[in-house]
Amino acid sequence: MRISAENRVPGARIISQEEAKKLEPNISCIKAAYFPSSGIVEATQLVYQLYTRASNNGIFFLTNTEVLDIKAKNNIFEIRTRTGSQTEIFESELVINSAGLYSDKIARLVNPDSPYDILPIRGESAKFYKSKRDNLRHSGLNIYPTPYPIYPNGKKADIPFDLFQQLFEQGKVVKTVGVHLTPTFDIINNEYQIGNLVTLGPATQRVTDREDNSEGLLPPEHYFQFVKPFFPNLEQKDISLHQAGVQAKLVQQYDWVMRPDEKYPNFIQLIGIDSPGLTACLSIAEYVEELLKSV
Ligand SMILES: Cc1cc2nc3c(=O)[nH]c(=O)nc-3n(C[C@H](O)[C@H](O)[C@H](O)COP(=O)(O)OP(=O)(O)OC[C@H]3O[C@@H](n4cnc5c(N)ncnc54)[C@H](O)[C@@H]3O)c2cc1C
Repeated sequence: MRISAENRVPGARIISQEEAKKLEPNISCIKAAYFPSSGIVEATQLVYQLYTRASNNGIFFLTNTEVLDIKAKNNIFEIRTRTGSQTEIFESELVINSAGLYSDKIARLVNPDSPYDILPIRGESAKFYKSKRDNLRHSGLNIYPTPYPIYPNGKKADIPFDLFQQLFEQGKVVKTVGVHLTPTFDIINNEYQIGNLVTLGPATQRVTDREDNSEGLLPPEHYFQFVKPFFPNLEQKDISLHQAGVQAKLVQQYDWVMRPDEKYPNFIQLIGIDSPGLTACLSIAEYVEELLKSV
């Protein structure tokens, strides 16, 4: 609540069990932190809208094109790319490295001393359909447990706060908002409405391959054990697997890196932008715009 006050989150407050149950009758809690301005974003629509607006403003997108190498020559960058079997070299005075899972590798193409390493962490989710039973009703709020730390294998770390701080410093546990309930959209008569499918996630696992979206997915039991305490009418058989994707976590680094490279100020590094990078994308863009003013 302190952080939400510092960030001037509108209407954030602690509510009683009774009030919480009026909002979401099927949850179990003693009290709850309520954030009436929280919400969900339809990710593909957001990206498509940004793409359309940028294109209409003269931005040119090179899709299906891989950056193979970048060389700095007198503060001009020579960029080698491959599209299909065709390679090309072009020059730019400015590069913004927002290569997600590969942002650490792109950073090192230009500055081999760049200290950042990406740890690929797979985020997995499951789902249930709230229309299945009356006591699964969900009014459409995002419902989170109390945050807790987890070990790299995704297991919950039930440890005292001072031990958590020590292990966190050593990179032996990571923070998580916990497996939570997120509503989705249905499109009815061309209108977005809160949908029937509710997702459970993320369940996180460290993976060695940055492209590994499917090996050894966590089973429905995993989600059940985390969600049952605060959404008690859910049964394991209601849960099925939903989606998986790999996030770019920075090794032993608490926050995202958003700064000009130490050697090349006209090379902007955006490294380790894990969740909530999508939600924050417009703010990140404004921040980069500010950085560019001093380049
Ligand atoms: C499972 C999962 C759940 C998530 N849930 C949420 C959520 O609920 N809310 C939220 O806000 N965020 C969420 N995120 C995080 C969000 O997706 C990221 O924060 C965001 O996508 C980061 O944006 P980015 O542009 O830095 O990287 P990305 O979106 O990963 O984009 C990087 C792009 O660079 C391209 N690229 C990489 N290397 C090269 C190369 N050599 N040449 C050319 N192109 C290259 C990639 O193909 C990719 O298109 C989630 C992520 C995952 C995986």
